[in-house]
Amino acid sequence: MKISTSNRQETPDLKGLSSAEIERWAVNQGLPAYRGRQIRHWIFRRLAQSFGDMTDLPKKLRSTLEQTVDLQCLEITDILVSRDGTEKYIFKLKDGHLIESVLIPERDHLTLCISSQAGCAMGCKFCLTGSRGLIRNLEASEIVDQVIQVRSRVSNPNRLTNIVLMGMGEPLANYSNVLKALQNLISPDGMNFSHRKVTLSTSGLVPQMRKLGQDITVNLAVSLNAANDKTRSFLMPINKRYPLSELMDACRDFPLPSRRMITFEYIMMDGINDSEEDAENLVKLLQGIRAKVNLIPFNKHENSQFQPSSAERISRFQKLLIEKHITAIIRKSKGPDIMAACGQLGGHLSPSNPVCNVHDVKGRCAT
Ligand code: SAH
Ligand code: SF4
Repeated sequence: MKISTSNRQETPDLKGLSSAEIERWAVNQGLPAYRGRQIRHWIFRRLAQSFGDMTDLPKKLRSTLEQTVDLQCLEITDILVSRDGTEKYIFKLKDGHLIESVLIPERDHLTLCISSQAGCAMGCKFCLTGSRGLIRNLEASEIVDQVIQVRSRVSNPNRLTNIVLMGMGEPLANYSNVLKALQNLISPDGMNFSHRKVTLSTSGLVPQMRKLGQDITVNLAVSLNAANDKTRSFLMPINKRYPLSELMDACRDFPLPSRRMITFEYIMMDGINDSEEDAENLVKLLQGIRAKVNLIPFNKHENSQFQPSSAERISRFQKLLIEKHITAIIRKSKGPDIMAACGQLGGHLSPSNPVCNVHDVKGRCAT
């Protein structure tokens, strides 16, 4: 075995490697290829937190790896707990930046919402993450490690069945790292999530949406938020580059497995996108697409003047869609008291305003 003890930095992040790459890494270290597969199994399936846990590796190898390879990409700095049971995990990256993941309890399972970037460059007017700009893309290992770390902490890891890329960042703007992470999440020798339970949400980067459909099978969600170009370009600058006609064509062409639909997220903002005419335009837009619509009341935050639509207006909008045979669900975001709801991530995270890790027994931020 020829593992060098000189420089931990040169070691690749094992959590970002594919199965072939980890075998190659093992061979390059002078180990048999099957050691790579063994280590991969410990990392993704048995959620090992250190090489010391990998009890079927020779003791000497474990201690050499401990000294030479850094297995942890993320450090948990805080966990905030909402009154509704939602938990926000705040992670520190190796360069000190902070990202967030949100664990959402559902009736019979847990869903984990993960981040793909620190910050976001897309500048959507309603989104707190977007108002802070992009810090950097996450590595594949940093995306997957959010899942590993949370899964290893929940009392029954098998309950965590659903993953959504709806946290901080635009996943399709970090395409190659996100694709690698998705492959490790759904591959049978990776974390083995069902591809039916993994959803990527995008603001509508059309070329990358088309590529994603060719490269992997996962669920697609599109943040639509408006049914005409004028309003959508006002809310989401990406619409000027890829207007609705191009976006909807890409949705129509997206290869969907049988009985699967594209989810369209539509934030309900008072007086902005919630009129009857908006609902009628939305119906027209979705024609010919296997679609379901999630109507999300706008979540308030410090960097936006928008107000949520009233409950009556949201119900009326929903009714108009249902009358035209479009599945439409009103989705109240969970965890607003800990700023864990959609669009509320990243608020505490600027270097001048470090995260608060003071919270009361009910999980409320006390600073
Ligand atoms: N960048 C990707 C995924 C992360 S955003 C995307 O835009 O799809 C996740 C979701 O949060 C998006 O559907 C977005 O429309 C929604 N969102 C952003 N800000 C929000 C807010 N203030 N209230 C409610 N939903 C919001
Ligand atoms: Fe970025 Fe999505 Fe927020 Fe838009 S809604 S700024 S794409 S995270």
